[in-house]
Amino acid sequence: MNATEILNGSFSETGKEYGYDSVTAEFSGFREFKIKWRRSCGWAEFEVSDYVNDAPREVLNGLAETIFSRISRQTRKCYPKEMMEWITSDEFVKKKQPLYLMRARNITRSSAGEHIDLALSYQRLADLGLVNFDNDLVLRWTKQPNTKRIGYCSVLMKVVVISSVFDSPDIPALVSDYVLYHELIHLNKGFDPFGQRHGIDFRVLEHMHPQHEEASEWLKRLKLHI
Ligand SMILES: [Zn+2]
Repeated sequence: MNATEILNGSFSETGKEYGYDSVTAEFSGFREFKIKWRRSCGWAEFEVSDYVNDAPREVLNGLAETIFSRISRQTRKCYPKEMMEWITSDEFVKKKQPLYLMRARNITRSSAGEHIDLALSYQRLADLGLVNFDNDLVLRWTKQPNTKRIGYCSVLMKVVVISSVFDSPDIPALVSDYVLYHELIHLNKGFDPFGQRHGIDFRVLEHMHPQHEEASEWLKRLKLHI
């Protein structure tokens, strides 16, 4: 059986338990890990991120189970244990991160910008005891300055991208350090696709940055929102 046949088997069988008799599923090369679907009465069609195209059957079953329970509104909080373990493993990052970086269009090839090196920002945050150093983490600037999304973190792929709007001689490094710190809190919280992004616990951690006030003032002045 090839990967698509396994995927189809998994989604069709799970679908039957939820009253879907006609189910098809295929892999798609989405940039981000995601699942798209279309459905009507008893019929459903899925496009599943190809980052899971080598996942064992029980992992795909767990994925299908969560998706069907969500679309049937019997909301399940998160993916089951096997799926979570597989998708957050070191091997997953090692195998998929290069593909993810290849698919990301608006990112530089290095952590070093024209003025600020994000690797040094990361080091500063580690020295302050705010983050733990992770060798698998990839830090990049956007090629084009993005003002709508000033920082982005793929928790699964261990990639953090910071808008090059901050790689400027006019903005102190503490601002990009702070934006990086914000993204690293997401990373540290782990993969939680159905959870709250900026809950109270998140804000508490954010305030632990010693230059939280100053950085927030800068962002306000620049009319940028994190
Ligand atoms: Zn955030």
